[in-house]
Amino acid sequence: MYGPNGYETMPGGLTVTDLVVTYSGDNPVEAVRGVSLTVGHGETVALLGPSGCGKSSLLGAVVGTVEPASGTVAWNDEELTRVPIHKRRFGMVFQDGQLFPHLDVAGNIAFGPRMAGVSVEARAARVEELLRVVGLEGLGARDVSELSGGQRQRVALARSLAAKPRLLALDEPLSALDSELRTRLAKDVKAILRSQGVSALLVTHDPAEAETMAHRVLRMEDGRLV
Ligand code: ADP
Repeated sequence: MYGPNGYETMPGGLTVTDLVVTYSGDNPVEAVRGVSLTVGHGETVALLGPSGCGKSSLLGAVVGTVEPASGTVAWNDEELTRVPIHKRRFGMVFQDGQLFPHLDVAGNIAFGPRMAGVSVEARAARVEELLRVVGLEGLGARDVSELSGGQRQRVALARSLAAKPRLLALDEPLSALDSELRTRLAKDVKAILRSQGVSALLVTHDPAEAETMAHRVLRMEDGRLV
């Protein structure tokens, strides 16, 4: 099966069906109004839309940080809508990296495998491999406070990939960077995602970023795909 970009799609992966996210309170908001989408194995899909259109709410419902009012989230045939975050085997990369400040670069990347009980040797090998993948060879012992913005996002990406997620959710991962660096890193992130064969759902308000990184771009407006 070939998608619109000549990209070979495989059945399965992420399936979101009729998803609705509402926030109650004094001014109730229907942030996501019945969205259905798929992300195939190894495919990168971008959700493109202006601030406030519901992208992060949708991404949150996919990874499990936001509880949907209705609709379903599934991976292959496994329904995940009410499955806790840590059992979905999805990873996340945020705009500001959210690195652990008390750990060095290697410690940040090894965090997930350490929590999962991976041996010291296997962890070290995985860290070395990922430092190479994200282009930060030799920087394992660097304090994260001594990294540039671009390097921080590379570490954040490596840390998310370390746990071998089946899907990576990226929420405006390059928005905090200046435009020249953003363009360069978008190409690198694309190459990294492809090399790892991971599925990815990218949220961005930047059309160029979406086009560079994604196999498919879905436009979102006012809680709906358009
Ligand atoms: P985007 O990621 O496209 O900027 P969001 O998903 O963050 O959009 O927000 C969609 C809508 O939901 C906005 O109107 C926003 O104000 C509202 N919203 C987001 N998070 C919350 C929350 N925790 N509580 C109440 N309203 C929220």
